[in-house]
Amino acid sequence: MSTLSLPQERNPEGHMRFEDLGLVPSLLAAVRSEGYSLPTPIQAEAIPRALAGDDLVACAQTGTGKTAAFALPILQRLAAAERARERGTLRCLVLAPTRELALQVGESFEVYGRGTGLSVAVVHGGVSQRPQVRALAEGVDVLVATPGRLLDLLGQGLARLDSVKILVLDEVDRMLDMGFLPDVRRILGRLTRNRQTLLFSATIPEEIRRLAEQFLRDPVQVRVAPVTPASRLIDQSVHFVERPEKPDLLVRVLEGPDARRVLVFTRTKRGADRVVKLLGRSRIRAQAIHGNKSQGARGRSLEDFRRGDLRVLVATDLAARGLDVDGISHIVNYDLPHEPEMYIHRIGRTGRAETTGAALSFCDSTERPLLAAIERLTRHPLRVIGAPTPRVASGGTPARNTIPAARFRDGGRGSRPRGRRLARQR
Ligand code: AMP
Repeated sequence: MSTLSLPQERNPEGHMRFEDLGLVPSLLAAVRSEGYSLPTPIQAEAIPRALAGDDLVACAQTGTGKTAAFALPILQRLAAAERARERGTLRCLVLAPTRELALQVGESFEVYGRGTGLSVAVVHGGVSQRPQVRALAEGVDVLVATPGRLLDLLGQGLARLDSVKILVLDEVDRMLDMGFLPDVRRILGRLTRNRQTLLFSATIPEEIRRLAEQFLRDPVQVRVAPVTPASRLIDQSVHFVERPEKPDLLVRVLEGPDARRVLVFTRTKRGADRVVKLLGRSRIRAQAIHGNKSQGARGRSLEDFRRGDLRVLVATDLAARGLDVDGISHIVNYDLPHEPEMYIHRIGRTGRAETTGAALSFCDSTERPLLAAIERLTRHPLRVIGAPTPRVASGGTPARNTIPAARFRDGGRGSRPRGRRLARQR
């Protein structure tokens, strides 16, 4: 299980305490015994809202403390409810993309809920269904499930969802990547409308926004990405450069004396391979990790990178998910990501644990709207290096001639994440 090294860093105010969130004493004791001194921003934002019964769309990745952000208020609401569980029924369903995550989430519910007497069960594929069926027959307060196995059990008439009052969709972007959204929709179709739904996802692409609009009721949106702990220690700059010049610029960056361990992001797998090849021509050794590489090859590249035997790793966003390597000196956004949240996830991989890091974004004239979206999200203009070439107006997008230059590092703490309501359901 990953650990949060600097929870205080993740709290924009540094003042919010668990006691301020409305949690009951038994849960406060549970977080205390876990050694958590302060709530993380996602916890500070989500817990009071979830306790109030609101639907929630939370943009938060693994490592932000998101599991406790939903588990604590759910345990409290279930423990306080008048109706206890009945045989053969469920009160809360958590859908998770993988067996590992399902087990981890189940364990968190067990740990936090020790003093509540609530029951927790996990169902996932790859193992006998018999114990899972037994648990379901008895009735479960919190069921954590992967979509495939749950649908199997539903198909056999061995699970019922009609009494679920709280639903959590965890790591929905991963469910989307893994092709599980149709399964999730099928499960959602079998739930009653009278429920609370909490959706957690590292990014909210269009498909997930649509899912939220269809299945959630006037959800509060919580984003914690803009207060990534690393932001204070990362020097973020944007380099205006046209596509044909990107390879040369990358070589210049990599030849710099401080480029000790560099992670380069491209949008596509082909792009990643191309960058590796281009660097090879300048005798710079690099390896790519992406979905077309075998698990073994990816693991070896990562290990080399971690050990310091490989200085430059080129990755797609998907392949880099969960990548946890200390001492990355530079992040290079060779292509800007389509989703602004992804920018924050990318740069959060440097500047960890009080070290400094640099995040360089290469922006060609077609990528200017993506840059604008990033700056809107982070509320900080990036430091500009090089002059932007006039944008070739295309598709009616207005040209943008100047981008204010400002350093990210100074006074960057003013951007408190604010809960925001998604557009009302039509
Ligand atoms: P998660 O993002 O839910 O996967 O949590 C990442 C890690 O952070 C887990 O190991 C949790 O035990 C830990 N954690 C969760 N909340 C806090 C907190 N408020 N303070 C310190 N660690 C925490």
